[in-house]
Amino acid sequence: MRNGQFDLSGRVAIVTGGNGGIGLGMARGLADAGAAVAVVGRNDAKSKAAVEDLGKRGVKAIAVATDVTDKAAIAAMVERVVGELGRIDILVNNAGMSIRKAPHELELDEWSRVIDTNLTSAFLCSKAAYPALKASGHGKIINIGSMMSIFGASFAAAYAASKGGIVQYTRACANAWAPDNIQVNAILPGWIDTDLTKGARQQVAGLHERVLARTPAARWGTIDDFSGIAVFLASPASDFVTGTAIPVDGGYSVMV
Ligand code: NDP
Repeated sequence: MRNGQFDLSGRVAIVTGGNGGIGLGMARGLADAGAAVAVVGRNDAKSKAAVEDLGKRGVKAIAVATDVTDKAAIAAMVERVVGELGRIDILVNNAGMSIRKAPHELELDEWSRVIDTNLTSAFLCSKAAYPALKASGHGKIINIGSMMSIFGASFAAAYAASKGGIVQYTRACANAWAPDNIQVNAILPGWIDTDLTKGARQQVAGLHERVLARTPAARWGTIDDFSGIAVFLASPASDFVTGTAIPVDGGYSVMV
């Protein structure tokens, strides 16, 4: 894949939550296309394994232990990435979590934890990385939304609010940073088999079957389904694509 418009040789990517799930799927795609990758997460064992995995693909990979809700830690993370990898061309705001409860049962601290992790983190990381992305001359930001950016679910009030917000934040930044040649786009995953949804399958009765019945592709997505879209949105192939929210969902969002 290292040729032409999809070549990421010499570029540096930060992937929050890149140590597992969809983030790791995207990090692998970016590494296979030639980008050095900084994996950002809290779990050191997972991050170490991810760095080994990415390193085997022939690129430099580092882990930067960071809580993406912590502004000071994010500033230090960006400084370290620039110090060790030299630049930042690509930022993937992927870290996320959910607390599954009815809206009237959600406590304020639970609401805040979801919004801080899924939405405010994207604001903090994008703001911190902006000077380096601008300096690169061709910055790319990829924000991870959800089907909950479009639909609602009774158990996902805070999560849906955060993921709807991610799409609007993407559009605003796409406008603001177009003059800097920074493209900002969102990916909206359908139902993907990860640690996050293993929890959902246990907590929400009948979810597994409903997802299969509701998805035209008739399967759950895998983390490998995200490597190609990450390379597209991180590479010169998408230089005239900005402010979009692209479903990667096996057709879930167009099923009647
Ligand atoms: P996982 O639980 O597998 O991965 C979530 C990642 O986020 C982990 O690597 C975790 O790293 C990181 N993370 C969570 N909180 C923090 C934090 N405070 N600071 C730093 N890192 C954090 O879930 P998925 O791969 O499924 O989810 C990835 C993204 O995709 C999320 O934004 C999610 O909302 C979204 N998504 C997922 C869907 C699915 O079906 N799986 C569907 C739609 C959207 P660590 O453990 O090291 O903290």
